[in-house]
Amino acid sequence: MSILSKRRKPRHSRETGKWYGDGLRFTCLRCGACCSGDPGHVWVTRREMERIARYLEMDPDGFMREYVRRAGFDHSLIERPNSDCIFLDENGCRIHRVRPVQCTTWPFWKSNTTSREAWERCCSTCPGGGHGRHYAYSEVQKLLVKQEEAR
Ligand code: SF4
Ligand code: SF4
Repeated sequence: MSILSKRRKPRHSRETGKWYGDGLRFTCLRCGACCSGDPGHVWVTRREMERIARYLEMDPDGFMREYVRRAGFDHSLIERPNSDCIFLDENGCRIHRVRPVQCTTWPFWKSNTTSREAWERCCSTCPGGGHGRHYAYSEVQKLLVKQEEAR
């Protein structure tokens, strides 16, 4: 028996039923486009706020007063007047190591992966989408679940 026969076959869309059954490519080019532009929300959970506060050596209440706004029952990081995320500066994300799940799972969101067209739309605004590192189907699925569960 050839050693090659022990290798797992790549999953194909026929098996997974998903258009991205062969995986997707993405490597962040750190252009900052997804952290700026139109107004939006960067949702943060209580646990994420505590983690970011610790990283910034702030107490959680002080962190919330300075960097967080309420949006209904949820919380979102505040934006600068030009709609940039408050943590985006000339070197990129100031809290990169502890950024919220919303940021770590981009662009593998349900809204971006629902169809090939949605993915192409996403790639037209995110220059890292469709290029670079290959994410296997299972990795994409894990990130989608992570993003859904964070909310
Ligand atoms: S838009 Fe895409 S490439 Fe640019 S910083 Fe965001 S994730 Fe990275
Ligand atoms: S927390 Fe960081 S990665 Fe997330 S939107 Fe703000 S600057 Fe971008």
